[in-house]
Amino acid sequence: MKRDIDVLVSEVGPRDGLQSIQTIFTTEGKMDWIRREAAAGVRQMQVGSFVNPKLLPQMADSAEVVGQSVLIEGLIVSALVPNMKGAVNGLAAGAHQIGVVMSVSEAHNQANIRRTVQESLNGFAEIVKYRDDNPEYRDRVISGGMATSFGCTISGAVPLKDVMRVAEGLVQRGADRLNVADTVGYANPKQVRDLFTELYRTIGTDIPVGAHFHDTRGLGLANVFAALDAGVREFDSCLGGLGGCPYAPGASGNIVTEDLVFMLEAQGMRTGVDLDGLLEAREIMERQLKGEPVHGTYINAGPPKGFTPATAAA
Ligand SMILES: [Zn+2]
Repeated sequence: MKRDIDVLVSEVGPRDGLQSIQTIFTTEGKMDWIRREAAAGVRQMQVGSFVNPKLLPQMADSAEVVGQSVLIEGLIVSALVPNMKGAVNGLAAGAHQIGVVMSVSEAHNQANIRRTVQESLNGFAEIVKYRDDNPEYRDRVISGGMATSFGCTISGAVPLKDVMRVAEGLVQRGADRLNVADTVGYANPKQVRDLFTELYRTIGTDIPVGAHFHDTRGLGLANVFAALDAGVREFDSCLGGLGGCPYAPGASGNIVTEDLVFMLEAQGMRTGVDLDGLLEAREIMERQLKGEPVHGTYINAGPPKGFTPATAAA
């Protein structure tokens, strides 16, 4: 991470948000949003996902979006992939970072990608090998995404030892970084602090670890606070909390980028992100939605009187 920021805010709306709504954005519409948000100072964005376009038509133009996004100066462009085919396509499109996703919960992994956790770990090793075997991809980053780390809609509680086993498995197979996700919005702050404390104890602090929280039950930012306390310095979020929660219709989903940035900046943590610029990007994104709800509180309240963001004060 660059030293001029304290926390990396990673926007996942163009992937996570868009894949769970009905509206299909045009490539141009996605790029207007991505360019404006990058101009507001967001350094990393997950802009697409390399999955079967028949299953996710919203993501059918991911190669094009990645190709255009990597031309944006200073932006780390990441893409989500479920398997080797997705990784091959994502790397070919030019993504700086490939997020390979699997579930810690055996039942969820089977339901989602029809593989056992062990098969997914083996598949991860093959993707790392593919990257290593192709010298032109030497500087590409492979991230191990650990879905349902805090609970699962099928099997309920997910034991901490299962999370650690998957984390260790990914690191042993060459993960450059990890992303620990509360995919279904079950996490609470104490659980978050305990999990990340145990995670750093298990894998050390050399591998960067990001956290992906949902606000399904109103605990999203409280969970960020707990993760910060445990040492996490990278968070995924969605502008306007776009996307909701597929497991709880009507509920909010991903934590809201502008609320996250406000919380971090108010606490003196530099994100490098300009809040006014974010709201402009949100406006561009919102204009394209066809009735889907957006979330967030900063948009309605604005900054407190006399508020100076840490990034502006530095
Ligand atoms: Zn999410």
